[in-house]
Amino acid sequence: MAIKVENLTFVYNPGTAMEQKAINDVSFEIPDGQFVGLIGHTGSGKSTLIQHLNGLVKPTGGKIYYNGEDIYAEGYSLRQLRSKVGLVFQYPEHQLFEVDVFSDVCYGPRNLGLSETEIRNRAEDALRLVGMKEKYWDQSPFELSGGQKRRVAIAGVLAMNPEVLILDEPTAGLDPKGRDEILDQIEALHEARGMTIILVSHSMEDMARYADRLLVMNHGEKAFDGTPKEIFRHYQELEQMGLAAPQVTYVIHALRERGVKVDEDITTVEEARKSLLKVLGLGEGSIC
Ligand code: ADP
Ligand code: MG
Repeated sequence: MAIKVENLTFVYNPGTAMEQKAINDVSFEIPDGQFVGLIGHTGSGKSTLIQHLNGLVKPTGGKIYYNGEDIYAEGYSLRQLRSKVGLVFQYPEHQLFEVDVFSDVCYGPRNLGLSETEIRNRAEDALRLVGMKEKYWDQSPFELSGGQKRRVAIAGVLAMNPEVLILDEPTAGLDPKGRDEILDQIEALHEARGMTIILVSHSMEDMARYADRLLVMNHGEKAFDGTPKEIFRHYQELEQMGLAAPQVTYVIHALRERGVKVDEDITTVEEARKSLLKVLGLGEGSIC
């Protein structure tokens, strides 16, 4: 089990007028290699929760285990943990600071005390993984487009060779093309390296498409935990939490209410297409 969270509670500014309970008694386990989607309304505790997983925030109550070890036990190296559990913050491009793209991506591996050759190899691999062409490597990160900056920031975390990659809304503010490219690259990393992924996103379409499992946060508590199909069956409850199911799920429910016998558990456009073709008695390829 890569990550185990046990009865996690977190309070900001305890004992002051600003006291705010952000996480309330949350428990879950994440096995190696799973692609987990984390959803919840703004302020539900998603960012606070993931910052616990690489030891950036210390729980008010409860425990966090990484590969069976309590990360807050005395003598446990949080520095080492942070090289294994990579966290890409929301708007990570705000943390770019080096003079050129390549140096920025080298920053993490350099802090790990690796050899110069190893540092360079890792930075090159990471930049290629996120699809950054070589012509950009000696440019200032500040001259790049929003999507390109985001890629550089993600490459900086990948260059640490993490076993777990946590991304806090990595597609926020990007256009649809940039969004799909970044998510496809994350999916490819997950497939090729068996990397464990925790993705925070507002897009239910993305969640249905990429995640093996969804964790739903509501007012600091875990509201649901299951496969996207299981979770989106609760779309009415999700709406009460300020969330929704993918658009296509609503279309399918509307069709079923009108007597069209499409499959019930549809969460992606591709599934809808297949099911509709079946209902219409048409084979694959008869509609483009
Ligand atoms: P999400 O990422 O789901 O939007 P957050 O983890 O950012 O949620 O916030 C959870 C709760 O904690 C919210 O009520 C938020 O206002 C509060 N909170 C977040 N960051 C801080 C902070 N630095 N100081 C005080 N309260 C905070
Ligand atoms: Mg957040």
